[in-house]
Amino acid sequence: MAAVHESVLDAIGGTPLFRLTRLGAGIAAPIYAKAEFLNIGGSVKDRAALSMVLAAERDGLLKPGGTIIEATSGNTGIGLAIVGRQRGYRVIAGVSDKSSAEKADILRAYGAEVVLAPTAVPAEDPRHLFNVVQRLTEEIPGAWLANQYDNLANPDAHVRSTGPEIWEQTGGRVTHFVAGVGTGGTITGTGRYLKEASAGAVTVVGADPESSSYGGGDGSPWFVESIGHYLHPDTVEDRWPQALSSEVIDFYERIPDRESLLTARRLSREEGLLAGPSSGAAVAAALRVARGLGPDDLVVVVLPDSGRSYLSKVHSDTWMREWGFLEEGDATLRALLDTAGPLVAVDADATVGEAVEVLRTAPGGLAPAVLKRAARPYGVSATEVVGSVSREVLAAALADGSAKPGDPLGALLGTALPTVGVGQPPAEARAALADGRPGVLVLVDGRVAGLLAREVLL
Ligand code: PMP
Repeated sequence: MAAVHESVLDAIGGTPLFRLTRLGAGIAAPIYAKAEFLNIGGSVKDRAALSMVLAAERDGLLKPGGTIIEATSGNTGIGLAIVGRQRGYRVIAGVSDKSSAEKADILRAYGAEVVLAPTAVPAEDPRHLFNVVQRLTEEIPGAWLANQYDNLANPDAHVRSTGPEIWEQTGGRVTHFVAGVGTGGTITGTGRYLKEASAGAVTVVGADPESSSYGGGDGSPWFVESIGHYLHPDTVEDRWPQALSSEVIDFYERIPDRESLLTARRLSREEGLLAGPSSGAAVAAALRVARGLGPDDLVVVVLPDSGRSYLSKVHSDTWMREWGFLEEGDATLRALLDTAGPLVAVDADATVGEAVEVLRTAPGGLAPAVLKRAARPYGVSATEVVGSVSREVLAAALADGSAKPGDPLGALLGTALPTVGVGQPPAEARAALADGRPGVLVLVDGRVAGLLAREVLL
């Protein structure tokens, strides 16, 4: 018989494991998914939220009439909103403008106040999400900043609940634990408990977006929300969260976005588990790990949240196609892209003279202007494009004397070129050329793979 609860807070934790029979077909080691979307607030972060609020009350940081503040991609905010409102507090969530709109709506529905802030600025910028919530905490009397990134009650939630649950549910047979790493709370707390319980026998694997710097990427943007470590090219000091204890993680599986997203879509279609993109990344990593294991091994992988929050993203064919993650049929831009010249990009903070130099090799004399990043091993992410540069504009400005070679490019930057996914038909690329745009950027896997000039498309 199902449980009867006196409080919704009692419905946090105690989530079931589901064997991945279809995705794991042909793999000797069983793979079990921990369905964290079945928590009352819909994600693994309910556990951390409850743990952090109880610890703050215990430590006298949160008193009756107090306000809970947090910078959150959404799920921690939902957890804090539920726990906070149930325990009588005001809740303010600072949400990244990168997060899905649905997440902010859910926060408001639970009675939280939402403040939107950009993450696409350096950590030092006063508009940065972390600085915005810091300021609010200083200004509001009785305010407490949950600070999931550095709050040790976050990993502790998983030492006390997630870890013991998995150990018990598998009868101590778990040999590998796989989870994505955002704050690091889940993997640190659960991994620590499982290693202790198994006398060090459990292997802990971090699932990381390929370009995230946790697993060794350059920190450039990716499309799997809520996990990984991003590094803005202008950020000076790279701080990792204190909730993350790297020594708990044996190794990272670095998963390209396409693999994460397609795996999330397989999870819903083939296993009946509608989960978010970070679940896709974690399961993709678990599959890689499990392929090298035997029948006596047992893999547990965390599904942090539900796919319902991403119906307009990973679970939308349109969205997948627009960002270059889905390519079906022959009537796409692929054929045109294969004939396009190599992509040339100009750093947005270059000088006019430097840009002219770069444009010498740009087909059509047109290039996207992008955020500075020394090396681009993963290519230019669509979200790093801030404008465009054309040879004609620069030549004209130099000729009439309105610009000198040493001037910053800034004022001469045109608006960013429209983007189209490689799987879209040429007609949609032509439609994007309205308003006399000189070309379109073609995306493959969320990264700029080429530039198609107007003449090529029309
Ligand atoms: N996936 C989702 C959907 C999340 O919201 C989070 C938390 N930001 C994570 C993964 C990562 O969990 P953690 O912060 O415990 O590392």
